[in-house]
Amino acid sequence: MSSVEIDLYEVLEITSSASKDDIRKAYRKAALASHPDKVPEAEREAAEIRFKAVQEAYDILYDEEKRHLYDTHGMSAFNGSGEPGMAGGPDLDDILAQMFGMGGGIGGIGGMGGMPGGRPPKPRKSPDENTKYEVRLEDLYKGKTVKFASTKNIICGQCQGKGGKERATAKKCSTCDGQGFKQILTRMGQFLTPSTVTCSTCNGQGEFFSPKDKCKKCKGNKTVEAKKMLEIYIPRGAKEEDKIVLEGEADQVPGQEPGDIVFHIEEEEHPVFRRAGPDLTATIDVTLAEALTGFSRVVLKHLDGRGIEITHPKTPGEVLTPGQVLKVAGEGMPHKRGDSRGDLYLIINIKFPDEKWKPSPAVLERLREMLPKPDPLIQTDTVDDVEYDPQGNLDDFGAGDPRGGAGWEDDENDEPAQCATQ
Ligand SMILES: [Zn+2]
Ligand SMILES: [Zn+2]
Repeated sequence: MSSVEIDLYEVLEITSSASKDDIRKAYRKAALASHPDKVPEAEREAAEIRFKAVQEAYDILYDEEKRHLYDTHGMSAFNGSGEPGMAGGPDLDDILAQMFGMGGGIGGIGGMGGMPGGRPPKPRKSPDENTKYEVRLEDLYKGKTVKFASTKNIICGQCQGKGGKERATAKKCSTCDGQGFKQILTRMGQFLTPSTVTCSTCNGQGEFFSPKDKCKKCKGNKTVEAKKMLEIYIPRGAKEEDKIVLEGEADQVPGQEPGDIVFHIEEEEHPVFRRAGPDLTATIDVTLAEALTGFSRVVLKHLDGRGIEITHPKTPGEVLTPGQVLKVAGEGMPHKRGDSRGDLYLIINIKFPDEKWKPSPAVLERLREMLPKPDPLIQTDTVDDVEYDPQGNLDDFGAGDPRGGAGWEDDENDEPAQCATQ
């Protein structure tokens, strides 16, 4: 535990020149503040750790001989690192073990509780790999099988995940004393709290092979990279946020069950269709003539490539209006189970003639005769014949009004909540 960073003066929040009296006072204050009986239930575990740390710091610093050792040799005086004459001094390992419940006499104290021998429990399963997977709406409609090559770590076949040659024995890591992790103290507000970090010398293994004993194939890594063809099936009707799980296909880790590869489906935006659950909507263009006189033609290519034909009107004389919606039952997305489907909502966009249409006055006159007449004329006392801009823009509407004009546009962008009041 030579790498544990602990400053006993910091634990008590005093300077190294503090007198015995200062130490006693600081100890009383810190012990009171972190006494487990004085804090809410939720903080009790953390308080117990702090309380222990405060007590141990006091035990060393209040004892003149121990304090001198600590001042002159630092922590190395207490960790049995071979300083002559230091035998009989307290072993910081033991102190830490007691402070943090690391296998010492006070197992199970504080946040380290439930870790046999102090080693954090190894997960039973290696971590899952989560991947976003963007899918076209067409493929969600029809379902799709996707094959791809994946590179992952698998247990080395030569050493069966041992990492070393057949008769070689791994050496215990001296940095972490074979624990695979180290305790460090980090400052949390006014207290030092212990936290666990993976030992970088042995990568958390607690042991390693000397270079000549390492497995030739995996170079001691225990795993090797391997390519594998994987196949996923996207069921028809799948939707955004659906998960497709390939069980046990994540990286292999020695001694653990392999985790899963999890694909999170994301729906690619479609140029024609919009989807809401099982329903679809699409905008279809019809000409003004079609809207007035009717038509029978394919208006849309569906997601499976079929043409969707509409015959309008069903009753002679009915016209289509802009924004009118034709609901086609059963032509939405398939449900994942069964044969039923959602509905398709076709929104009518009427294409009015553009500037390329140059009707003769005679044609216009005939149209006027054929089409419905305007509502009764508006009667007023005076009449002004006004000029106008034929390309007016409603974005300019209200721009000169400080209360509701240009100002509101900004609000709209910044605070969606304000939209409700408009
Ligand atoms: Zn280590
Ligand atoms: Zn190997």
